[in-house]
Amino acid sequence: MNSQPSLKVENLRTHFKLARPHLFAKQPTVYAVDGVSFEIEQGRTFGLVGESGCGKSTTALSVLRLVEPTSGSVILKGTDVCQLNQEELRLYRRNMQIIFQDPYSSMNPRATAGEIIRSPLKILNIGTPQEQNERVEELLKLVGLRPEQRNLYPHQFSGGQRQLICVARALAPNPDFIVCDEPVSALDVAIQSQILNLLVRLQREFNLTYLFISHDMAVVQHICDDIAVMYLGKIVEKTDRRSLFMNVKHPYTKALLAAVPTTDPKLKGSSAPLKGDVPSPINPPAGCHFHSRCPLAEARCVEEDPVLQEILPNHWVACHLA
Ligand code: SF4
Repeated sequence: MNSQPSLKVENLRTHFKLARPHLFAKQPTVYAVDGVSFEIEQGRTFGLVGESGCGKSTTALSVLRLVEPTSGSVILKGTDVCQLNQEELRLYRRNMQIIFQDPYSSMNPRATAGEIIRSPLKILNIGTPQEQNERVEELLKLVGLRPEQRNLYPHQFSGGQRQLICVARALAPNPDFIVCDEPVSALDVAIQSQILNLLVRLQREFNLTYLFISHDMAVVQHICDDIAVMYLGKIVEKTDRRSLFMNVKHPYTKALLAAVPTTDPKLKGSSAPLKGDVPSPINPPAGCHFHSRCPLAEARCVEEDPVLQEILPNHWVACHLA
């Protein structure tokens, strides 16, 4: 990477302790995020991709401290978010916003669209009521809604329009950095491209930095500049979009790509789609976490955990065979 990163995540760990099944049992721990590091340059989109349960959403929530990380650092524009106290964090949140997967469940059904978009401005005490009203109108237009729609309630909008309201709400405090947590996976395909194109346009206009979470390789390919593939709380492959899709190295990434509908044999690769589910992060398999599903697994894969290594310039892979 050439310029200073806008966001730098180093060795992030988020572990959850569970209740002991009985008094003398060892306390189970969920290793949801286990030593994740990446950087995002200002104005770029970094994708975190993997199956459900791989830890990508917990990573995103930990970066925003909506879930408290166990250890590691999250440096946003020179400030370590993990070191802020609660009041500092509350104020700093104007720089970092989130768009959730399900717009309906992330908004108050009894609030109007205008009130929803205005809510971060009220919470963060930004502007006078008049300025807040003007900002709401500006944001509605920016995302392609009409100013008079500010008085409608969430149930009076389509799913795509509700996500537009969430995009407007995320933009309201003028953040530098936005987490997009599966923002189109609950929407029809036609609406998906409308929202993705809007995100790209807004990024260009406001030089926004995105952390984009998705299980869908086709969506990631469309929108992300750099991509990390996660499996059981760890990054197993990390590189730019072109290298990932044209020169894929990790057997897990190959299997994810094999599941993407495409007519391009280069993208399709030779791997068969994945079988079975991601193992439990409570008791991750020893050695390489992927060995129980990997078609190439060898004896050492069961014992030795492969280290994420830069095997080509800016192409990182965690696999003994890479
Ligand atoms: Fe497969 Fe072994 Fe590579 Fe893990 S280290 S991905 S089990 S070949």
